[in-house]
Amino acid sequence: MKTIGLIGGMSWESTATYYKQINEKVKEALGGLNSAKICMVSLNFAEIEACQQRGDWQTASDTLIDAARSLEVAGADFVLICTNTMHKVASQVEEAISIPLLHIARATGDELKQDKISKLALLGTRFTMEETFYKKVLQSEYGLDVIVPTGDDAKTVHDVIYNELCLGICAEKSKEAYLAIIDKLKSEGAEAVILGCTEIGLLISQQDLDLPIYDTSLIHAQKAVEKAIKDA
Ligand code: GLU
Repeated sequence: MKTIGLIGGMSWESTATYYKQINEKVKEALGGLNSAKICMVSLNFAEIEACQQRGDWQTASDTLIDAARSLEVAGADFVLICTNTMHKVASQVEEAISIPLLHIARATGDELKQDKISKLALLGTRFTMEETFYKKVLQSEYGLDVIVPTGDDAKTVHDVIYNELCLGICAEKSKEAYLAIIDKLKSEGAEAVILGCTEIGLLISQQDLDLPIYDTSLIHAQKAVEKAIKDA
């Protein structure tokens, strides 16, 4: 079995999901007492969030590169950045190491393509929803039509992530707000919704709505397990 390298802590609330999901999927696949081989560097999210706020992506990138290099030295066979937003610096991280990086948008794009989804709603931080680093992977590499919330809806989705979910707060009113926003995007033609922030799965799940959900943290973790046990 290969060793999975996790760059986590962004936030730790969702890194806990990764850790549990990866181990559960290894157990499901291999049975018995099998568990995942994992190396993890868990960052201080306050430092990363401060970089995001002041637009200092260089320092954020350097921090993730240090983490990735530590994982490589520690024996990781490949690396995951356990957040969608920080894939803004994924190519810099990828270039700085000699082991592969398992990209979260590509992991999700593969699933969507397999399920023949063509138009989808993307929820995440403002960076993920509004900038091109994430959407362009889905659009140009997978030919997907991506729609995102706008105006107050975009603000609500973004604010709930930082002010609640990353602090472990799951409020009923925020869940209702998210479901109403997803409903609007569905009426604009979305056939599925990407939970493009690794904490959103803490707030809503498939049983809350009829539109198919693609939870990036669960998909990313699943793909990591497939890669780790392939040819094991
Ligand atoms: N975990 C979140 C994401 O998947 C947001 C936190 C961050 O800014 O990294 O985008």
